[in-house]
Amino acid sequence: MSNNLAVKNIAIMNTYNRFPVKLVKGKGSKVWDDKENEYLDYTSGIATCNLGHVPDQVQSRVKEQLDLLWHCSNLYEIPNQEELAELLTQNSVFEKVFFCNSGAEANEAAIKIAKKYAKDQGNPERTDIVTFKQSFHGRTGATMAATGQEKIHQGFTPLAVGFRYLALNDFESLSEISDGKTTAVLLEVIQGEGGVNPVDKEWLTQLEKICKENDILLMVDEVQTGMGRTGTLFAYEQFGVKPDVITLAKGLGSGIPIGAMLASESVAASFSPGTHGSTFGGNPLATSAGIATIESILSDGFLAEVKEKSDWFRKQLEKLRQSSNKVIGIKGLGFLVGIELTEPVGPWIDRFREKGILVLSAGANVLRVLPPLTTTKEELNQFVNVFHEIETEE
Ligand SMILES: *Cc1c(COP(=O)(O)O)cnc(C)c1O
Repeated sequence: MSNNLAVKNIAIMNTYNRFPVKLVKGKGSKVWDDKENEYLDYTSGIATCNLGHVPDQVQSRVKEQLDLLWHCSNLYEIPNQEELAELLTQNSVFEKVFFCNSGAEANEAAIKIAKKYAKDQGNPERTDIVTFKQSFHGRTGATMAATGQEKIHQGFTPLAVGFRYLALNDFESLSEISDGKTTAVLLEVIQGEGGVNPVDKEWLTQLEKICKENDILLMVDEVQTGMGRTGTLFAYEQFGVKPDVITLAKGLGSGIPIGAMLASESVAASFSPGTHGSTFGGNPLATSAGIATIESILSDGFLAEVKEKSDWFRKQLEKLRQSSNKVIGIKGLGFLVGIELTEPVGPWIDRFREKGILVLSAGANVLRVLPPLTTTKEELNQFVNVFHEIETEE
């Protein structure tokens, strides 16, 4: 089966290899195509629809806002934006929020503030940002350069300057961070696109120590790991670190586009009127979705249930691993799950889809499974059973 629609005469630029499915409707964990086939969506629109599709609470809040005001400039006070910023800062170690529209933009904001911070601290020679191999930070000029994957750079040189890539979880190379040229370290605590690779907790503690001792900013890209995906509101909470900056997007608006960069008071002081901005960033409509999303995730027992269900799911997957010679390991945290296979993942994704389940890859051999946080044990079981069916096929 060909996944390449480039041959079709459609007016969309060919930046994605699209699966031959036209999705037209969604509710909860389910989506339907134009032929009324039902699928269990264990991609969650790539970690975006964390509350499932068209979640009631978010839908009604957005509908309310649709009747009031969709957009106004950031030249005016925006009550929804203030409320969402309050919710984000009250439930994290940060004091200030900058709103934008996507993950790449949130990381652009982090990159900019890190550069400005160095100058404001009297360290203009600190121009570099350290990132890691196999990372993913976005597709814009600077975030593509921040991404530690050659295949993403290919054809786009000259790249934005000032990025250096170290090996993740490598203790030895940590000393390169305190070279006097580095203003910030940007990393995912679990690399999503790069293969569902978690950082080693001890290594991260060591990295944080070097950052604090040298006034280098620790910036965590939580675009994929944030908003409850790993079982806590933010993934950094589970690694015992206190970052200076985090970035959010995917799950923040349940599918209504919104991004954010959160920072401590002292770092946030480096942005002032005229230094950064965004027309749409934090507009009334997008922030209404954000408010309802975070309220749902923080509602009583929600995250405890995510933890319970995802622990149970992991146990089932571990059993599959033990009985299968095609599964190397189960990676990730919460409902950010990577199943490392002994063989290419592409045919598995096709088989899952043919059997009514949508899943993703992360690199060549890792099946990436991102159930909505609201998924049921019954649905999780359906996945486990289908996995077993595919695994025992010849
Ligand atoms: C998806 C992703 C991005 C980019 O987000 P966009 O909204 O597509 O720009 C950045 N960082 C991480 C970790 C991501 O998973």
